[in-house]
Parts: sequence; structure tokens; C-alpha cells
Amino acid sequence: IEQTAYRNDKLATLGKISASIAHEIRNPLTAIRGFIQLLRPHLLQLGKDEYARIILTEIDRANDIIYEFLNSSKPSAPQKKIVSVHSLLKEVILLTESEALMTGCQIVLVEESSPLYVSIDVKQIKQVILNIVKNAMDAIDELDGERNGFIEIKLKADKKYVQISIRDNGRGMDPNTLAHLFDPFFTTKEGGTGLGLSVSYRIIRNHGGVISVDSTKGIGTEFIISLPLCTGC
Ligand code: ADP
Repeated sequence: IEQTAYRNDKLATLGKISASIAHEIRNPLTAIRGFIQLLRPHLLQLGKDEYARIILTEIDRANDIIYEFLNSSKPSAPQKKIVSVHSLLKEVILLTESEALMTGCQIVLVEESSPLYVSIDVKQIKQVILNIVKNAMDAIDELDGERNGFIEIKLKADKKYVQISIRDNGRGMDPNTLAHLFDPFFTTKEGGTGLGLSVSYRIIRNHGGVISVDSTKGIGTEFIISLPLCTGC
């Protein structure tokens, strides 16, 4: 027990140090961003606006990574509440509605007759589902309107677990992507952080659940999140 306590202590310290480093890196980045913007008209005159654009995009990407890192490295003892999975999903779909309209994809939630309850940190699980739905929209967007985008969210349950399936008809994944998609910083997107799924994986594991994926290139992808059902709710 003593050793575990020692290790937890060390991990907590490491978390705090990393968080403060991340925080400190943000300040110089903000300064660099400001000065590049001041220099931009001069670069434009020299015909080098492309350089300014790249610098700004890359600074923004670094900022995104730090932001997500700070978010994910917070000591995250889940703040649990008992909620209905169905209403949780409805809320998430509402949040993605405008983006779905823009990418021209339809999101369908398949109704579940019996109410299913889980004891979860609502903010964290919402973040996981949002990550997955947004990835699905990106995968549809990357097809450039080749087919009508469709995302189906379905619930299934057995005695102990509820399964949330999120299926899209986007571009699917090749075997290399499939093998690495939960790795921190793995991304195939220009401007992606590659943190969404690694953070999601950790959140689901902290809830005693599992997340799995099945995908075929050119056909689509299905993510399945299993979470322990709240027994006696
Ligand atoms: P990011 O979205 O910043 O790239 P993620 O960790 O959320 O980071 O995703 C990692 C990678 O997994 C993505 O870059 C993409 O290649 C792949 N991916 C995730 N979801 C899907 C999906 N629904 N369809 C196709 N590829 C996906």
C-alpha cells in the first residue's frame, strides 16, 4: 500500500509539473502570435504571406495540443451522477446539429424502449461521444459529398453493460490507422491534435468500461462504448 501511495504521489507531482510547463509555454506562444500578426503586412509586401499563414496555423495547433493536454491531465476523479443514456445522447446530438447541417450529414438516434441508467461523469462522457461523432463527421466530410453522410447512434444492453454504437458511412480506416488511433498525438488530419481518442479511451477505462472499433476503408466505421449499467437505479 505504501508503495502505491508513493507512486500515486509521484504521478500527481508529475501531472502538476507537466500542467505548469504547458501553461508556461502558452505565454510565449501568445507573444509570438501577436508579433507575427504585426509583421504580416510586411511579409505580404515581400510576397511571403504564405509563411505567416503557416506560422499562425502551427501556433494554433500547438495551442490546441496544450489546451487538450491541460484538459486531459487534470486529476480526473469522475464526478458521478446517475443519468439516462438516452437523454444524454439526445443532448450531445443537439450540440452537433449545426455542424451536421454544414457537413450535410444526418444523425439518427435509434429509440430504445426501456430506459437505461448509468452512473457517470456527465461532462467527461459527453466529451467522449462528441469526439467520436465529430470524427465521424470529419470522415464523411473527407469524402467531399461522394455519398449522403449518415451517422447512426444505437443502444443495446445486457444485464451488466450498456453498449452505445456510433456508426458512420465515412471514409473508413486503413489497417495502420486502426492500429494507432488510440495513441496520443496520432492523427491523419491536417491540424489534428490526435488527442481526442486517447483521452476518450482513458475516460471510458476510468468508468470501468471499454471502447472498441471496427472499420473498413471506403465503407465506414463503428465505435462501440460499453459502460457498466447502474444496477438498482
Ligand atoms: P484527431 O481527430 O485530432 O485526428 P483523434 O484521436 O480523435 O484525433 O483521432 C485519431 C485518428 O483516428 C484520426 O486522425 C483519424 O485518422 C482516425 N479516425 C477516428 N475516427 C474516425 C472515423 N470515424 N472514421 C475514419 N477515421 C477515423
